[in-house]
Amino acid sequence: MFEATFRYNSNKDKQTIEGSEEYVDSLIVPGRMVIANQKALPQRLRSFNETAGVEYYLQPSVTDFRVGTDFREDGEIRPWHWQYVDTIGPALEEPLAKHDHVDASELPAETVDPIIKADIEYQETIVPKRIEDNAGRYETVNGDDYQPKAVIPWFHKIRSRSDLDTYASMLDTAIDTAQLRIKPVIFTTKGFIRRESHRGALATLVDRDSFQDCFLWVEDLDKHGTNQSDYDHVTDLVQRLTAVDTPPHFYYGDHFATLLGHLGATGTTYGAMYGEDAVEKTEQRGGGGMMPRYYVSEVKDFLQISATVDIQQRVGADMCECDVCQRQFDDWFAVGERYDGDDDDDNIQTPLQKHHLRVRWRQIRESEDEELDESLERIDEAYSRYAAAFLDSNQVSNTKALDYLPMWKAAIESASEQSE
Ligand SMILES: [Zn+2]
Repeated sequence: MFEATFRYNSNKDKQTIEGSEEYVDSLIVPGRMVIANQKALPQRLRSFNETAGVEYYLQPSVTDFRVGTDFREDGEIRPWHWQYVDTIGPALEEPLAKHDHVDASELPAETVDPIIKADIEYQETIVPKRIEDNAGRYETVNGDDYQPKAVIPWFHKIRSRSDLDTYASMLDTAIDTAQLRIKPVIFTTKGFIRRESHRGALATLVDRDSFQDCFLWVEDLDKHGTNQSDYDHVTDLVQRLTAVDTPPHFYYGDHFATLLGHLGATGTTYGAMYGEDAVEKTEQRGGGGMMPRYYVSEVKDFLQISATVDIQQRVGADMCECDVCQRQFDDWFAVGERYDGDDDDDNIQTPLQKHHLRVRWRQIRESEDEELDESLERIDEAYSRYAAAFLDSNQVSNTKALDYLPMWKAAIESASEQSE
């Protein structure tokens, strides 16, 4: 089954998931978020699991320290990161005291290996332990019932041949350490996978008996900044990983990842709003709200509210059929009326996020149940129906706004023809 994974990044995401449990298969939670919310969050993961069988993975938070300055304040580790560092222990605390960053390619194995081991142990035990600790007095709880679906070992960004060696030895250590199944992340760039030999090397890297599958994160696979050849390379990489029996689950993915299910991809991951692509975080992000956007199911993208109302009216689209939209909005105009310009307004954010989860789920299940041709035809139809409206609308500035749709189709079509 193609896995729908939700990126549970903040306590606010609780509102989005509650009542939507049946629209996700699993969650990815930043590892350090558990220790920072060690009472409430493990209980929540337990409750999502008991309500709808939702499983979870923890991100190896040690990756936060590879580059950037966002985890320090006046040289000291920020409190929000510190709780994690403190729990992992001296293995991580000491290198962070000695160096600005913790980058596996710049540290000896005697420093790297203990960090890998400590983080794996953390992932395997933190939630089960806290669930047992928090259990009611007369409640019998077996923490083992709440282990993560798999362990995600500390991963290393691959931009060169030597990064492959670094990561290969990290994976050896992880395999020796983990009790639970390992699901490694291949984190690489559009530049690196341009070469065929590099795509081959990535497949070789994860071609090991210990792995049933892997996560794949190609940095910055933004649908408005990715060209045809990049999409072709990603498609080829997906086929190569599948061919060595380590099919990829997108660590960040938009509908392109869903379509790649036809060529072997096993899942995709997204946030409440956006979170479909990402670059490695290097700076402290400013606080403040995120402008609410509506996920327009036909074009598989988020549009500003005013653009959504304009475009959907131009094409004469019916109101979304999901239960949230049906309950909340009589027509497209009503979506516009709800947004009063206050970005933090949960009155609009929460329904839009719940709508996004439902639509993504529907698209994933639909794509899974139909033939590739049908999925691609849907893309064609959406493009023909919406291209003119996008050109005509003064609410959408970029005239190339929908170019990703024919690019997805071309990439998948040519790959599937070649493999026939
Ligand atoms: Zn909806």
